Amino acid sequence: MTEVVLSTHNGHKAKEFREIFGAVCPDIRILTLSDVGHNGEIEENGATFEENAIIKASVPASFGYIGIADDSGLTVDHLGGDPGVRSARYAGEGCDSADCREKLLRVMAKVPESERGAGFVCVMALCLPEGCGFTVPDDLRISEELAEKTGRRADMTAVVRGECRGRITEKEQGDLGFGYDPVFFAPEFGRTFGELSAEEKNSISHRGRAAEKFAPVLARVLK
Ligand code: IMP
Repeated sequence: MTEVVLSTHNGHKAKEFREIFGAVCPDIRILTLSDVGHNGEIEENGATFEENAIIKASVPASFGYIGIADDSGLTVDHLGGDPGVRSARYAGEGCDSADCREKLLRVMAKVPESERGAGFVCVMALCLPEGCGFTVPDDLRISEELAEKTGRRADMTAVVRGECRGRITEKEQGDLGFGYDPVFFAPEFGRTFGELSAEEKNSISHRGRAAEKFAPVLARVLK
């Protein structure tokens, strides 16, 4: 059994990861930061989802564990990709997701439907610790540029990106899910994420798509 540490204190997120990866990688045991006695906050100060996912996954790697992490958010075309890595804090520090949705609908109020395109993005990262005996195969390594930005070795780091395209609605529809779900219209279903069951959402979501790519990466690197 190979142990990997998911860089989160959130037990719910860990449960989700175990469900997703358990079937594809049965030899991997997913622990959380709390399980290995790390209780500090991680400052997510990267400029991109890739940088933030690596910043998070490199924390367990810095004390000898195989680290994995995800980072996600909403990118709106008309806003040049905002709120992006600031999705959770779009309406200011201490705001909640209702405040963020309200701000987004206000900012987008006069934007015509043809310019309301948006995407949810999820990046998952794997950071190997020094001396673990594994390496990332050539075709899965991060670029040298990203390695330099994050202070990581490319042969010890992998990222994958999942994206789901849709558009921003004019008002909230549905109250399922979380975050921006009620204002994100998914053309595949003709409904917002806030109107989809968890199963429907996972089948097309950015997180579902990133996980689909990440599972075989984990299986290949840690075999
Ligand atoms: P995190 O990186 O998964 O914590 O996501 C950061 C923020 O992006 C969340 O607080 C939400 O505002 C937004 N977000 C990410 N994924 C979703 C989603 O599936 N639905 C709605 N909002 C999301």
